[in-house]
Amino acid sequence: MLGLMQDWPLLIHRVIDHAASQFGPREVVSRSIEGPIHRTDYARVRERSLRVAQRLARDGVVNGDRVATLAWNTWRHLESWYGITGIGAIYHTVNPRLFPEQIVWIMNHAEDRVVMTDLTFVPLLEALADRLPKVERYIVFTDGAHMPATKLRNAVAYEDWLAEADGDFRWTSFDEKTAAGLCYTSGTTGNPKGVLYSHRSNVLHSMSLSNADAFGLSSRASILPVVPLFHANSWSLAFSCPMYGAKMVMPGMRLDGASLFELMEAEKVTMAAGVPTVWLMLLQYMQKEGKRLSTVERMLIGGSACPRAMIEAFERDYGIDVVHAWGMTEMSPVGSCGAVKAQLADVAGDALIDLKAKQGFAFFGVEMKITDDAGKSLPWDGKTFGRLKVAGFAVTKGYYGVDNAGLLDDEGFFDTGDVATIDANGYMQITDRSKDVIKSGGEWISSIDLENLAVGHPDVAEAAVIGVAHPRWDERPLLVVVPKEGRVIQRDDVLKFMEGKIAKWWMPDDVQAVAEIPHTATGKINKLKLRETFSSYKLPTA
Ligand code: ADP
Repeated sequence: MLGLMQDWPLLIHRVIDHAASQFGPREVVSRSIEGPIHRTDYARVRERSLRVAQRLARDGVVNGDRVATLAWNTWRHLESWYGITGIGAIYHTVNPRLFPEQIVWIMNHAEDRVVMTDLTFVPLLEALADRLPKVERYIVFTDGAHMPATKLRNAVAYEDWLAEADGDFRWTSFDEKTAAGLCYTSGTTGNPKGVLYSHRSNVLHSMSLSNADAFGLSSRASILPVVPLFHANSWSLAFSCPMYGAKMVMPGMRLDGASLFELMEAEKVTMAAGVPTVWLMLLQYMQKEGKRLSTVERMLIGGSACPRAMIEAFERDYGIDVVHAWGMTEMSPVGSCGAVKAQLADVAGDALIDLKAKQGFAFFGVEMKITDDAGKSLPWDGKTFGRLKVAGFAVTKGYYGVDNAGLLDDEGFFDTGDVATIDANGYMQITDRSKDVIKSGGEWISSIDLENLAVGHPDVAEAAVIGVAHPRWDERPLLVVVPKEGRVIQRDDVLKFMEGKIAKWWMPDDVQAVAEIPHTATGKINKLKLRETFSSYKLPTA
């Protein structure tokens, strides 16, 4: 027997409708690309999104079409997502930090018909436009007064284009499983792969992720999403903030410590979300200037492992609660968050920092398991490492436009490519990417554990560990470090610092200081590049 409740499709425009009706005056504040701070609210965001939808429809954009957005976090970018999805078209977020060849590749693969972009990226697009034959129109997120002269096909200033729509329009209606967003993973090896979110997966993910043990959103929160809308579906904040009426504070293109600090203070930000590299800059700024954030209660840190030293600095020196989150583009993107469960409420001191350094537990809608190479499930004992596999309503079942045979296992789980432990309380800890783990004499050494430890040394600003060929052990760890400003790295001193904190056979065989560690387009350590740099390196133990 079927239940007798209403079908109420989980469509993204219902989110902005709800925000406008319940939280209409709640603000969306942005540092505009033109310079000044811009203020709007959910009522106006909805009103303008509806005009975006109307105007796109008039340009002939229909259900299923891809509209690229290549832009920073601002109110206009937010409006565009609701406008695009409101007619069943698909926002395709393009990461401007990718190599130009990759940008061309993904935009052609996605067959984007329209591109919406910031002033900043007009020169980049002009250089690529000849190789983007399918793009019919470029819409620049600015007004007529700031619109540059450009040869981009049918280029128009967003505000002029939008002014041609009166807003007398209704969202279109379609199945909740309709595609809503397309985001390509950066693909450090091979071509990028497109992850195609649906309306349903975005809405459910945002609802679930906002629970108090995860992001914990409410209409009283003021949130700074430093994580770009173009990276991993904005950690769903573009949906969850309006859904729960949280104020949004959009940083635009200025992501340095001083600019973020100023914005967080001015807008009374209570929670901020971003990758560790960004928070490192903020911490360094506060330490140097002797400043403290006065309203921030919680930092959401994820995208790569949050170093223990960073958690300690925020929690102990600044009294800010750190929530360490893990996820990936393929998971919409969040999979776990590190709140403290009731049975651990007494954990304090170093043990609490250790707990927070783990990547947390799966919230409702995410199932996890760890397996060996043969696919056999491994115990949740906090020690056994295995391949981390996931299933859920917001986990991908296939990449866009490719053969997906064999992507999921027999139980329908997706292999994340991460290696992890899960403890008896359900807390997962990433020990490595499966391709970065160091295989020494048939045993695995976690590069992430070593990196986290090394950055606790007072002279070390950033650390990366890679496996280097060794005649006896196959591979041994090499620790690569960037010294803090004005410091000199003493190899033996760093190794001594690590002694006793890890198993003896995990100790790096050598330490190399470098001026800079390479990063990927999404701010992660580029191990592939680093391995290339040290490919002919001879360990002193070899
Ligand atoms: P991309 O692969 O395009 O850089 P993703 O955000 O999809 O972007 O990357 C996902 C990967 O990032 C995860 O599989 C994992 O390896 C890593 N990652 C994300 N969050 C964490 C975290 N908190 N700790 C360790 N690794 C993380």
